[in-house]
Amino acid sequence: MEYISTRGSAPTLDFRAATLAGLASDGGLYVPAKWPQMSADEIRALAGLDYAETAVRIMRPFVEGVLTEDELRELCRAAYGRFSHDAVTPLVQLDHRHWLLELFHGPTLAFKDVALQLLGQLFEKFLAGGDTNITIVGATSGDTGSAAIEAVAGREHIQIFMLHPEGRVSDVQRRQMTTVLAPNVHNIAIDGSFDDAQAMVKRLFGDEEARSQVTLSAVNSINWARLMAQVVYYFYAAVRLGGPDRAVAFSVPTGNFGDVFAGYVAAQMGLPIAKLVVATNVNDILHRALTRGDYSAGTVTATATPSMDIQVSSNFERLLFDLAGRDGAAITGMMGEFDRNRAMSIPADMLAGAKGLFSSASIDGDTMALALRWAQEKGGQIIDPHSAVGLAAARALEIDADIPVVTLATAHPAKFREAVERATGVRPPLPARLGNLFDREERYERLPGDYEAVKAFVLAEAARG
Ligand SMILES: *Cc1c(COP(=O)(O)O)cnc(C)c1O
Repeated sequence: MEYISTRGSAPTLDFRAATLAGLASDGGLYVPAKWPQMSADEIRALAGLDYAETAVRIMRPFVEGVLTEDELRELCRAAYGRFSHDAVTPLVQLDHRHWLLELFHGPTLAFKDVALQLLGQLFEKFLAGGDTNITIVGATSGDTGSAAIEAVAGREHIQIFMLHPEGRVSDVQRRQMTTVLAPNVHNIAIDGSFDDAQAMVKRLFGDEEARSQVTLSAVNSINWARLMAQVVYYFYAAVRLGGPDRAVAFSVPTGNFGDVFAGYVAAQMGLPIAKLVVATNVNDILHRALTRGDYSAGTVTATATPSMDIQVSSNFERLLFDLAGRDGAAITGMMGEFDRNRAMSIPADMLAGAKGLFSSASIDGDTMALALRWAQEKGGQIIDPHSAVGLAAARALEIDADIPVVTLATAHPAKFREAVERATGVRPPLPARLGNLFDREERYERLPGDYEAVKAFVLAEAARG
């Protein structure tokens, strides 16, 4: 499989190079040159397979030419063997038509583990035996940081530097990062906001001097391999609910449009999906874009669902690319306009193409809390606020009564236990596998909100590693 950039002028890469590169050199995002197709028979044949084997069948065409099927299988077994539930992403029934797809049984209790555990394996495989060392630098407001650190801790040829805003992530989130003591893990608490930390990371990626000293790599959801890994659970869930002979709808709590884009890919590959519901909180750029073509960034409002407090959804560009007939020049023009004005409008004909598959809803805090209580009272489940945004959108949806609706449960409720307790009166306990999180030693560097200080630290530590 070859990978092309959404902006049309970066070199075409194979799967290995696209995985290691992250962003394309023309500022675009890598996508497969074509969507592989699965026939109804091939999808039916997934019915008896476990998660790792399903993953092999779905991802095989995307890695072709770079990994053999056996190599892919070995990586999938290693990645998904670390999940605490044998089904990896089990389905839970809430009522006669609503289901939860629990994506939080990985090491850090958020759905990002499903993709990052595999990405960690891929990085190690691609770097093994060579003399390239990569330096991963990222900023996190919570979930991405711990999942990325868990995925690469102790791996050879990789150093990871994770910036978090000091005092602005929860104790559980901070400790999940800072108690990982592997020598290749470097946590940095920045005196400043998440946006300050993010801005420093972006500046570092554009810094010629830094780039001449280290090979920088990104693990955020612009990385194609992450999306590829997420396509798997759409097939896995749909097949268990009667697919491909029965269409299924999915409701997806959305921030950066990564997870829901994976659902779009599943549909392009041939999985019958009746609807993909883009569920946002009050930060509703995607809801406005999909209903009115109004793609304009406002200011971020802090909510009880911090992983969705996003104004600009990077992966939306991948959908626009398809809607524009894969015209890289058109996307370069549109995204250029967006970068200049923080706003653009999506042409009506492009939007019409999206409306068949996607619908959307913006869910406020009260509606989210109502959905949390509904899951507790009607479905017997304590869920997390992000999942509750998805469930609220799923329940608001008008869709044929014979179509099962699956809400993606993106985080374990214990990760956001204050908000869960406020809505339900129940304080979810931390799962046993995190048991002594609060007794473990923490290690992290505290730095001022000053770019030069952060850069100097990263370069010095990377050189030592
Ligand atoms: C990252 C995250 C999301 C949003 O996922 P995207 O792929 O960015 O749309 C939703 N819920 C939780 C708990 C997350 O960590």
